[in-house]
Amino acid sequence: MADVVLENVTKKFGNHTALDNVSLTIPNGSFVVLLGPTGAGKTTTLRMVSGLDRPDSGNIYFGGHSVEGHSPAQRNVAMVFQQYSLYPHLTVRQNLEFPLKSPLLKTPRDAIDRKVNAIAEVLQISHKLDNMATALSGGEMQRVSIGRALVRTPQIYLMDEPLSSLDAKLRADLRVELKNIQAKSGATLLYVTHDQIEAMTMATHIGVLHEGRLVQFGAPREVYEHP
Ligand code: ADP
Ligand code: ADP
Repeated sequence: MADVVLENVTKKFGNHTALDNVSLTIPNGSFVVLLGPTGAGKTTTLRMVSGLDRPDSGNIYFGGHSVEGHSPAQRNVAMVFQQYSLYPHLTVRQNLEFPLKSPLLKTPRDAIDRKVNAIAEVLQISHKLDNMATALSGGEMQRVSIGRALVRTPQIYLMDEPLSSLDAKLRADLRVELKNIQAKSGATLLYVTHDQIEAMTMATHIGVLHEGRLVQFGAPREVYEHP
């Protein structure tokens, strides 16, 4: 485990600069929330860290090593994006087990069951475990997609507005659960949102993006006392 460092990262789409010379250190074990309005560059930042997309210039380091050219699997990241991308022909349980069933992991059956049942309970989706993914509401799909990341033990979790389509009660419950899971596991979590409550309640560090530039970075208290 180690810090993730973005160094002078710039990303353009045609003439439009989505990220403008962003430098950012995501400390190992931190819960970093990227905050900012639509179009600020939050999702683009997440995609750079994930390896799904690459910077036009600048570097990204995991533990001091450049990860240029490394795939998401090589970077050992677990992602929750806004498009849920569940396997439609599988049940909720099968979707949740999928990341654990790689032959390389050799996870014992009872360990898989324990993990899936525990995560399903946290996400309040236990009663849907035998339903097909296609039979779920948007909010349920979103929770299964969070669950598929949480069953894994990556170096870093990347989440893009994972609570956006949930009702207020569930959102409040899951803010607490995500914060607990992150704190207990010691995993690093990079989390994109435009919801200030999520930022204030969960973040160890908040980064504020505006028009592709990182305009603030610090502890929640610092960011809110000096806006
Ligand atoms: P945010 O997540 O903060 O809403 P994004 O990172 O999605 O912002 O987008 C930053 C800017 O880059 C926006 O102006 C967006 O339209 C543009 N952008 C993002 N991805 C692409 C893409 N694949 N092609 C063209 N423009 C893009
Ligand atoms: P967010 O809601 O976080 O801003 P978006 O809905 O903007 O995310 O982006 C979803 C996907 O669409 C991302 O993969 C992003 O790169 C892509 N995208 C965003 N803006 C554009 C755009 N103007 N043209 C093409 N692709 C885009």
